Amino acid sequence: MRMRILLFMAETKSVISLSDLEEKFTHADRTTLYRTLKTFLEHGLVHQINDASGITKFALCSENCTCSYPDDVHVHFYCFSCEQTFCFPHLGIPNYDLPENFTPSNGNFVITGSCPSCSS
Ligand SMILES: [Zn+2]
Ligand SMILES: [Zn+2]
Repeated sequence: MRMRILLFMAETKSVISLSDLEEKFTHADRTTLYRTLKTFLEHGLVHQINDASGITKFALCSENCTCSYPDDVHVHFYCFSCEQTFCFPHLGIPNYDLPENFTPSNGNFVITGSCPSCSS
């Protein structure tokens, strides 16, 4: 099951939600799919994205990703029209100089707007 989900994510190369997995793997129950995603998260295979949709989404991590802040935090784009989320691992975020005693552990950088297919 885990292998199949990983393969599916590698093939689609897109950002997926739990519902997307449910649609694809109709024979698996929601709990199994959710647990699989959680396991992937714990092992640093995927990262979690909180975009403007209010739905938690996941994308595969790139090869050398350790999901550390700020090195592996990158830009995600949410399209309001098609409600798709895009992962841009090559677009890192600046290492912000936070005020004293603010200790960052993670970041979530989401830009919203229209994707190329919805802009044209
Ligand atoms: Zn779009
Ligand atoms: Zn990403």
